[in-house]
Amino acid sequence: MSFLDSPVPSALRRLSLETLTMALLSLVFVSLVGFDFWQSWHARNVQLHQSESTTLNLTRALAQHAEDSFEEVDVALMSLQHLLEQGNELDLKPEALHGLLQKYARSLEQVEGLFVFDEQGNWKATSLQDTPWKGQNSDRGYFRFHNRNTTEDPFISRAIHSRSTGNWIIPVSRRITDSQGQFAGVVLATVKMDYFLNFYRHIELGPSGAIVLAMPDGTILSRRPFKDEYLVGKHLAQSYVITTALAQAPSGIVTIKAVIDGVERLYGYQRIDKYPLLVMVAISKKELLSDWTGDTQRSAFIVASIIIVMSLFGLVLMRQIGHANTVKAELLEAHRALEQQALSDGLTGLANRRYFDTALQQELKRAERSGQPLSLIMLDIDFFKGYNDRYGHPAGDYCLKQVAQALKRSLPRSGDLAARYGGEEMAVILPASDRQGAWVVAKRIQDQIRNLRLEHHSSPFGMVTVSGGIHTYLPGEDGVLTTQALIEQADRALYEAKHNGRNRIVAREDSGHT
Ligand code: GH3
Ligand code: MG
Ligand code: MG
Repeated sequence: MSFLDSPVPSALRRLSLETLTMALLSLVFVSLVGFDFWQSWHARNVQLHQSESTTLNLTRALAQHAEDSFEEVDVALMSLQHLLEQGNELDLKPEALHGLLQKYARSLEQVEGLFVFDEQGNWKATSLQDTPWKGQNSDRGYFRFHNRNTTEDPFISRAIHSRSTGNWIIPVSRRITDSQGQFAGVVLATVKMDYFLNFYRHIELGPSGAIVLAMPDGTILSRRPFKDEYLVGKHLAQSYVITTALAQAPSGIVTIKAVIDGVERLYGYQRIDKYPLLVMVAISKKELLSDWTGDTQRSAFIVASIIIVMSLFGLVLMRQIGHANTVKAELLEAHRALEQQALSDGLTGLANRRYFDTALQQELKRAERSGQPLSLIMLDIDFFKGYNDRYGHPAGDYCLKQVAQALKRSLPRSGDLAARYGGEEMAVILPASDRQGAWVVAKRIQDQIRNLRLEHHSSPFGMVTVSGGIHTYLPGEDGVLTTQALIEQADRALYEAKHNGRNRIVAREDSGHT
């Protein structure tokens, strides 16, 4: 490691700043989308909940209407039944009975006609205006029902085409029983399907909405929107409302796909207590949620726009950060280069004298603090003047560089520092090294330089060699030492090495001894 190597520059910090921006933007996006989603989901639930109660209320109101409509008819039938069973009808002239039926029929808006049949099914009286009294209805279901069953309850039949008017009607009938308990005929009211259709037409349900008046077995009596084929067979027999929901509760609300058209609807249903009737109100879920869908699309659009705009800003920001980071890295590099120049020696690449002085000062303080020994090696090339004289100054420079390289190679420990002290004299600071350790390092340096095998015929050794002086400072034992004193001691050792023949190392541990 070079003496100027500092921790890796801001690659990590640059990455984290960009990552931070990304994370912040992502957090904002996720929060926005999350909040919008939650808001929409909540609004949807509120909308559905409100729709459910509205639908259920409407269903109950329509069920009440249906019950009232049939009850009014049934009350008329009951009083006619009572009248006829008392035998008073024998006293009633056909015209009088006709008049009575007409009076009832006129007072009941939902009734198309009122009829009295004898035990053979022949028309005995009717409320209709110009109908010849020769009809025969013994084949009708209600007639056969009353003929066979003695029940006193009213009987509601499936919707049929009226024989007298051709309109769709719902027959409601009661049995007439004579004083001996024998079947004596039927009183019948035909309820106009149009009555219900007209009523249902004015209710706002949306294009896919439906209102159904049905029997509990799934037979449709009336339906808005209306089609003839709805009235054929038990159209709703397979409907979930008929097969399951109705068995669980007489009224309720379920969401299912319709048997008829495959549209998912909210179904409110209500079983009517007094009659075998059922009212269902169906509203398409899609139509129910259309306002919500619009709102959701609008807010999603707004959120998406915000995200796009913020992404663009984010992109610009990231570019700015990237640019700023590049500039910063360039400045840092320039600064490092300047620093390198200011603190290193141009020829050898070793630390310069200035850096050496500062470093030695710091290491000395550190040694005093830690109590660890500090060693300094001063090195000087032997007979270098002669080298210059013989091989020329440029060759001398080259030799100096080679020696400096060898010196660097000898110092693998990161804390050690090699500096050019001046001329061809070099200094090595070895923190936390005692005399022995410094000796090993100095020997290694000597070996490395020797291994260069740089010829030097002006030297008695024939090759470039160095002399070295070591001084090791032991804090506590040597008292407080200045850098100057440390250098002087090492220099003295070097002088000794020179004096003793060069190409050698001399180590001193205190002021006197080698
Ligand atoms: P000694 O063994 O006693 O050290 O003998 P020496 O010839 O090396 O003596 P001294 O240290 O006094 O001589 C130093 C010489 O090193 C003087 C100078 O010509 C040479 N020198 C100093 N700095 C440089 C330099 O940067 N480049 C070159 N080529 N020579 C230098
Ligand atoms: Mg020299
Ligand atoms: Mg010298």
